[in-house]
Amino acid sequence: MIRTRFAPSPNGQLHLGHAWAALVAHDLARAGGGEFLLRIEDIDGTRSRPELAQTFRDDLHWLGLTWDAEVIQSQRLGHYAAAGARLKAMGLLYPCRCTRAQIAAAAREIGPDGPVYPGTCRRHPIDPDGHDMAWRLDVAGAMARTGPLHWDDALAGRQAARPDLFGDVVILRKEAPASYHLAATLDDAADAVTLVTRGMDLFAATHIHRLLQALLDLPVPRWHHHPLLLDDDTGRKLAKRRGSPSLADRRDAGQDGIALAEALRRHDFPAGISLGVGVGSLS
Ligand code: GLU
Repeated sequence: MIRTRFAPSPNGQLHLGHAWAALVAHDLARAGGGEFLLRIEDIDGTRSRPELAQTFRDDLHWLGLTWDAEVIQSQRLGHYAAAGARLKAMGLLYPCRCTRAQIAAAAREIGPDGPVYPGTCRRHPIDPDGHDMAWRLDVAGAMARTGPLHWDDALAGRQAARPDLFGDVVILRKEAPASYHLAATLDDAADAVTLVTRGMDLFAATHIHRLLQALLDLPVPRWHHHPLLLDDDTGRKLAKRRGSPSLADRRDAGQDGIALAEALRRHDFPAGISLGVGVGSLS
């Protein structure tokens, strides 16, 4: 049975781009007679506003969407910590106290997520005591253990996994027992998601997720990275901070959510917005 999910982070209100992502995931599940899950990715301790989860539910109902189950990441911290401990016991994580500024200054490459970590704390191990410390994955060590990996995208086809593009990513954050990569990978497995549906801006993240699946013996789903709603003027994905009204604002203004969902399904987008891949999304 097909099972998809929509996994918004409550760091800000949902906008049209999120409505599009939710519709794609919802409709793919329903078309296959399957299930659709809502996952609240609320473990970004610094920016997360858990109270937004209720607004998200109201937004989705307004669009006419229903879901079969709901997952809240902050309720799964023990599960993430256990997987982190397992990766540590495999000798694949190392502690790091480098700041963003230090990494930007020392980095030699730019990866899909910005400056690639230059491996400073792998080459010069730090004492893993105290706090203010993240744990990074030794990606080369991990890949040596798993061998070559592949993954399948419904639109882009078969991909050779290239987790090395990111360098040694953070797996356990300073302020949370999991990074996005670890939490999302574990959740998709725990919830038996069979088709991971998300925007092309997260295409490259799948290289890391595929590696984590192999290391942690998790089932391997298929992926469907869909095109994004882009602002025609900038070619960048919609964002509230770039002036795209939130779904909550549209609701409050009396707009008809079901009609909006139908228009999006017909690819009838508001003026100045079109579907596209977005800058740098596929690297
Ligand atoms: N929480 C992520 C976002 O809001 C989506 C993560 C995912 O779908 O894997 O962009």
